[in-house]
Amino acid sequence: MSSPQVPLRDAIRTLPAYVPGARAAAQPDVIKLSSNENPFPPLESVREAVARAAVEINRYPDMFATELGEAIAERHGVVPQAVVPGCGSVAVLGHVLQAFCDAGDEVVHVWRSFEAYPIAVRLTGAVAVTVPLRADGRHDLAAMAAAITPRTRVVLVCSPNNPTGPAVRDDELRTFLAAVPPEVLVVLDEAYVEFVRDPLAPAGDRILADHPNVVLLRTFSKAYGLAGLRVGYAVTHPDLARGVRTAATPFGVSHLAQVAALASLRATDELLERVEVIVERRAALLAGLRGQGWSVPESQANFVWLATGDRTAERAAEAARAGLLVRPFAGEGLRISVGEEESVERVLALTGTWR
Ligand SMILES: *Cc1c(COP(=O)(O)O)cnc(C)c1O
Repeated sequence: MSSPQVPLRDAIRTLPAYVPGARAAAQPDVIKLSSNENPFPPLESVREAVARAAVEINRYPDMFATELGEAIAERHGVVPQAVVPGCGSVAVLGHVLQAFCDAGDEVVHVWRSFEAYPIAVRLTGAVAVTVPLRADGRHDLAAMAAAITPRTRVVLVCSPNNPTGPAVRDDELRTFLAAVPPEVLVVLDEAYVEFVRDPLAPAGDRILADHPNVVLLRTFSKAYGLAGLRVGYAVTHPDLARGVRTAATPFGVSHLAQVAALASLRATDELLERVEVIVERRAALLAGLRGQGWSVPESQANFVWLATGDRTAERAAEAARAGLLVRPFAGEGLRISVGEEESVERVLALTGTWR
């Protein structure tokens, strides 16, 4: 076959590829700590709801995920029109950017942060303007405010920040929002919010109530354990939500995902008990690492960040040989998910040998 002559868009050709976390081979002693997934198996009630719904998959799903949207709205104390469910919150972020960014517009975010951001921004033709993280792995919100120009349409705030872990604080976020022009959209990506225990962290719903230019992004992939079904959502002012919905993929949330997310909302208490267990394991992991002399950012998520610098690739390979799949960021560090109970001890046994 001869080579195609059709040019790809420059934005596509020059895009860095998303690097997914390593996947475990079906070996019993390998623990996957590379994608911040929930280590617990799905709840019985959720599995049963999905199994019951399987007989209907010859039909299209409810295009607007009506029942799920209503349940989410009730949870956030907003009208259903304020909620936009989507095929994972990464997809919803893409719809948000498509709804607000034209070619050449600017989107401000910290770096390092979630690696889907630069890809999603450049797909719209917009330009990412990055602000360095502070040395303690936190957002520098003052520098982000200073990076806003007349071309800025959107600012992304990842709290807790993937991959370093700290959450922004309510007072610094409010100071920041007061400095952001009202025509600039602020996306607060709260993928890990259920794991936050910092009493100074913001309550997204109250931030949203006070600022009509804010979008909250939430997901069922992490605390709710539905990463494999792909469902997340945005909450924002109904006028903005309408625009995001316009940009969304029709029928983007599958019927099984809608059913599973609804069943998970009904089982929230049971799921939050599991979150509490993960939070305890996180505390043990952080304490253990600090006891070994590591300087670790104050993670409020279900992962920790280890600054392994130039040795990162080597350390990730050693971890893999020890049956621990972690997520390396070459030249910077390792992101290690808080996983199964035995993962804490096994991670600490390994990191101890690196001191
Ligand atoms: C995991 C994650 C998400 C959620 O992605 P889904 O598409 O909902 O699975 C969103 N934002 C950040 C920062 C994440 O780490």
